[in-house]
Amino acid sequence: MSSIAYTSNEEVGHHIGGRRVAGASGKSQAVYNPATGAVARQVALASEEEVNQVVAVALKAQQGWGDMPPIRRARIMQRFLQLMNEQRDTLAAMITAEHGKVWSDAQGEVARGIDIIEFACGVPQLLKGDYTEQVSTGIDNWTMRQPLGVTVGITPFNFPCMVPCWMYPLAIATGNSFILKPSERDPSAALFMADLLTEAGLPPGVFNVIQGDKHAVDALIAHPDVAAVSFVGSTPIAQSIQQRAAQYGKRSQALGGAKNHMVVMPDANPEQVVDALMGAAYGSAGERCMAISVAVLVGDIGDKIVEMVRQRCATLKVGNGLDESAEMGPLVTREALLRVEGYVGIGIEEGAQLVVDGRNFQVAGHEDGFFTGATLFDHVKPDMRIYKEEIFGPVLSCVRAASFEEAVQLVNAHEFANGVACYTADGHTAREFARRIQVGMVGINVPIPVPMAWHGFGGWKRSLFGDMHAYGEEGVRFYTRQKSVMQRWPQSTAAGADFAMPVAK
Ligand code: NAD
Repeated sequence: MSSIAYTSNEEVGHHIGGRRVAGASGKSQAVYNPATGAVARQVALASEEEVNQVVAVALKAQQGWGDMPPIRRARIMQRFLQLMNEQRDTLAAMITAEHGKVWSDAQGEVARGIDIIEFACGVPQLLKGDYTEQVSTGIDNWTMRQPLGVTVGITPFNFPCMVPCWMYPLAIATGNSFILKPSERDPSAALFMADLLTEAGLPPGVFNVIQGDKHAVDALIAHPDVAAVSFVGSTPIAQSIQQRAAQYGKRSQALGGAKNHMVVMPDANPEQVVDALMGAAYGSAGERCMAISVAVLVGDIGDKIVEMVRQRCATLKVGNGLDESAEMGPLVTREALLRVEGYVGIGIEEGAQLVVDGRNFQVAGHEDGFFTGATLFDHVKPDMRIYKEEIFGPVLSCVRAASFEEAVQLVNAHEFANGVACYTADGHTAREFARRIQVGMVGINVPIPVPMAWHGFGGWKRSLFGDMHAYGEEGVRFYTRQKSVMQRWPQSTAAGADFAMPVAK
């Protein structure tokens, strides 16, 4: 396992025009090591002037890049793919150091990001247009997809490598330039990927990283030379990003928060259910937009599942993510810790039954780390805040349902609709569930159904604002616009003006 030793006085800056650039605004913010609670580094916060500079660089770079034949762009992506594969462990160590997730989970995140780079290497095929010969006598019609120009991605803290990879590989492979504004809580993975893109031969300015907070985001969205904005983060900000992008006439996709249910049918295998719940509720300390935070226990399987999860929570290994035996690491910041433990207090006040209390958890030798233990609530009701709101921590709420119908209605009534799972041994139940559930990503006996690179990722309702999902074919459509061309030659052109709407002749 690699490990990264950071010093507290080092400042993480930007990556503009193919090289690292120090912040010039005089403003910065602390980045923590969540396992120790110590300040690990500082991150620069860009001013509007720095945002203007990076957009100007990206605009200039896009012109030549957009003209480059797709197969040559793909060859650069292939070199980048190779470098990313060689540097998997370095990236994973960076993620564990700043985010806190356990090493195996960080490696999984990097692997899922690399999948999308691999998909983007097929860009010549993905950009291939449609052609119809003879739509009218002597006339042919074809469509092509062209890049938008300067595109922007704003990403959350919980996947500092994978979520940017949902965006930039397809954005640049399709001929755009890209500006990434990573989370200020774990900014280093973005810079490292930028270094690798430069090493792979990407022309300077095609991919840039600007560090910052709300001010940088506001300046990017308002900038007239930015054509499209991809956002992943919490729902209130996702919604406001989409609204503001629309106000400026820009294309946007804004993925928001979640409250993912797992419906457990009475015929499900209890051991498989509990394995799935432990990983999906407590993996990455619940800081995944696809984490399972609600178990809907149908019928008489409920008591058994709650008791089995309770027992497993007692042996869950919580520790420093760099400790290979750890199954769950710390939360990302002290604020996150206070928020999550605050929700546990709210659940008790609301009358939910607290089965396992993860509060005030101590890891020996890491007393100042942002650790909380696994929490389990039973008999949670749909009107409780711990059911309705996203907690984004290792807190699993169990809700009881009398029937499949009631479980489906419950899930469909929730305002979030990112992911959902159903555990059952019955094919008809599984099929009905997949058809009727009003959620963007569905797992049948699969707890975290994150779609593969070529399928595309996106929730419904208040989990996604915008029309197109991230990556996959929808990602290609998002970063390109369609142009239709109709052509005929003089020999096929009839004489005389025609005042009727043209029809096939
Ligand atoms: P966040 O919304 O706080 O931040 C996301 C990004 O927005 C960061 O880059 C941040 O700097 C920027 N930002 C923060 N406040 C802003 C503001 N007022 N105006 C403009 N930009 C602002 O989210 P987070 O805490 O980093 O990440 C966790 C959230 O992201 C959770 O809600 C989680 O469900 C969600 N998430 C969703 C998906 C998905 O695919 N739907 C994936 C990962 C994370």
